[in-house]
Amino acid sequence: MTEKTINVDFLIVGAGIAGTTLALELSKLNQSILMIDNNYPLSSSRVAAGLISPMVPRNVRKTWKCDEIFPHVFEYYQAFEKEWNTSFMEVIPSLQIHKNLRQVHNWTIRAGEPGFDKYLNIHAPQLPACMKPLNFDCIEVLQTGRLDVFKFLETAKSHFSNKNIHYIEEAFNYEELKQSNSVWNYKHIQASKVIFAEGLGILENPFFQYLPFNPSGGDIVKVEIQNIPQTHILKKKEWLIPVGNDQWIGGSTYHSNDLSVNPEQKDADWLIQEFESWVGQPVKLLSHVKGIRPTVAERRPYLGQHPNLNNLFVYNGLGSKGSSLASILSKHYAEHLIQQTEIDAELDINQFNYLVSK
Ligand SMILES: Cc1cc2nc3c(=O)[nH]c(=O)nc-3n(C[C@H](O)[C@H](O)[C@H](O)COP(=O)(O)OP(=O)(O)OC[C@H]3O[C@@H](n4cnc5c(N)ncnc54)[C@H](O)[C@@H]3O)c2cc1C
Repeated sequence: MTEKTINVDFLIVGAGIAGTTLALELSKLNQSILMIDNNYPLSSSRVAAGLISPMVPRNVRKTWKCDEIFPHVFEYYQAFEKEWNTSFMEVIPSLQIHKNLRQVHNWTIRAGEPGFDKYLNIHAPQLPACMKPLNFDCIEVLQTGRLDVFKFLETAKSHFSNKNIHYIEEAFNYEELKQSNSVWNYKHIQASKVIFAEGLGILENPFFQYLPFNPSGGDIVKVEIQNIPQTHILKKKEWLIPVGNDQWIGGSTYHSNDLSVNPEQKDADWLIQEFESWVGQPVKLLSHVKGIRPTVAERRPYLGQHPNLNNLFVYNGLGSKGSSLASILSKHYAEHLIQQTEIDAELDINQFNYLVSK
């Protein structure tokens, strides 16, 4: 028996943080959507720690689009929490622990500059007494927190049907996507527009393979540490996020151009050793996973239409900041797709057209 044709405005491939938030934004604009996702358990969003922070420690600067993203990023996810009567967003300040006098100087100078006072507090609370005597103390970073990305995605999925979003769990077969009379056909689905948001699945995508990626592997551990109050995220170069019951999520490592998702004991050992060197307490490993970030060389996400194929779009390259970036980019993209507003020039993939053969 042939399946009944489904007609939708948008077919979205990939239900990670990018595809899911875009679907939710398009649904707010009364669009019908069908999502296809292979539910890969080690996808970047399913492994991510979900840390959200306005500051980049290297060079002590604000993250890209910081003043647009913060504090609205928390409100963005909290609105969904309210609608769905659950919780996945926690706002928790951070203690940035200094390594040397230069860091004390750089962070203190920055805290006095205009526009930084809302993010930095030099009168940080005392570090817990049980932590190793630290020579140079710390600064408090405000407007930081954690999105439980896995829970957000699972909850969103369970509400798709109320939002005119169909969901199919399967691997997308690119060979079955065909365009005729300006409509895209995929099996029994007809869509006006197709958006690819498959994270690193893009490496198999024949339409957008030309976009340059520099994937970076990362380890995330769950650990138990006694006697440290769980009031703050603790951050040196690596970080620990409190999740209750003396448990912490810790990370991370950066393995450049590494596509392996097999966690290696040496990487967990290294993280544990780093943490123990500054928390001054035994750190017990509870679990360890590895994932791959869809990082791009220029550290700017990819949005826009294929140069030669009408109504075929990409949404990718969220790198190591998917949780915060998706909160502004998905709305920006949805408005572009429906109301033809301009895409931010830094993000538009048309700058890579020279890489596509005609
Ligand atoms: C170890 C690690 C730690 C991280 N920590 C943080 C953090 O603390 N804070 C933060 O903001 N970000 C963090 N990130 C980065 C963040 O996870 C990414 O920016 C974000 O998840 C990218 O989301 P995405 O939706 O673009 O891709 P993905 O999450 O990869 O989603 C793509 C989806 O498409 C599906 N898919 C792929 N190919 C196909 C196909 N052919 N057919 C059907 N479905 C397909 C996948 O199963 C997946 O569900 C971390 C990432 C890693 C790996």
